[in-house]
Amino acid sequence: MARREAPAAGPGSRALVVDVVRSAGAISRVELAELTGLTQPSISGIVRDLIADGVIHETGSADSVRGAPRKLLAINPANRFGIGFHVGPESVTCVAVDLTGGVVGREVVPLVDDFGRRFDDFVAGLDLPRDRIEGLAIVAPAGRVPASRGVELAAALGLPVLVENDSAAAALGEFWSRRVSRDQAFGSVYLSTGIGAGLVFSGALFRGASFDAGELGHLSIAYDGRPCPCGNRGCVERYASTAATVAAARDHAGLSARLRLDGSIPTAYDAVARAAVSGDAEAFALVDEAAKYLAVAVTSTVNLLDLGRLVLTGPGMAVAGSIYARRLRSHLAATAHARHRHEVVVELSAQPRDAAAIGAAALVVQASIAPGHTRSPS
Ligand SMILES: [Zn+2]
Repeated sequence: MARREAPAAGPGSRALVVDVVRSAGAISRVELAELTGLTQPSISGIVRDLIADGVIHETGSADSVRGAPRKLLAINPANRFGIGFHVGPESVTCVAVDLTGGVVGREVVPLVDDFGRRFDDFVAGLDLPRDRIEGLAIVAPAGRVPASRGVELAAALGLPVLVENDSAAAALGEFWSRRVSRDQAFGSVYLSTGIGAGLVFSGALFRGASFDAGELGHLSIAYDGRPCPCGNRGCVERYASTAATVAAARDHAGLSARLRLDGSIPTAYDAVARAAVSGDAEAFALVDEAAKYLAVAVTSTVNLLDLGRLVLTGPGMAVAGSIYARRLRSHLAATAHARHRHEVVVELSAQPRDAAAIGAAALVVQASIAPGHTRSPS
């Protein structure tokens, strides 16, 4: 991690210290001062307050080169919790996470409209003290849940309620739970019936002028390509989303009959993905073709932003993620503009189907213990 110019100790310093402790896992006060650029007295004061609040705790000690062993500091996971709801096409995934982004509760229910009631029911089933729950975030494809719903719910629940784009939230969840350093230019690719991306710069989600950043699916890869409902042509979503892959599979009569692809798109896509990773050459060719198109769009995004680390997530990555990861890694290694200066690390999400809900809950946690990065759309 690069050393920064010494910042003045202020409200942002506390968030900086929390973020450095989170990404380090366990760290001494001396290392904290080195990594944050804050003075030792500032670090001592901030750490004392954070320990008093229960956000961090001392976990043990590391050998010091000289003198007494150094006490190590870490995030205290079970101090507070965040709740996240992901409103998907067919269901709502509800999760609770601790301060490190670890999942401590999960439930999937059919689509509901009364989020306040759902919150009460979900929390009632958790073995967590209600006064340790810091808030709720509801995430969905852009525009599906209006920000005004969050304002109404916050008043009804007496807790902060955030509303966010699902693929953006998934990026923040991966950033938080993978302990990605805030110095890394980090992105995630969210593959579902559409394609989204999330970008985390300096520890904050990048949201753009109108909370619409990360529409990777509408990055065009062909001037005169397939028309898209967005008004453009050649959008990568028309070639590489799970919906596009299912449409291509249904055009192959033999494959379609063999895999019985007449159900919903998520169900049909999972059947194609399972066949692809089980050695069905036709299914593999379709998924691999989608991965090639996705790799072209992702490489453009990496080049535009000079990203250093990417996580592949979303339900479309749950079964056949390895096929996409292989294509993306080879395409980036061969063509990324900065390839001679740094590798672009491509990883697979550990929980691709739940990533958006986990990210929602992580947004609550971040707003609670490392505030300053979150605002809701107006
Ligand atoms: Zn489009």
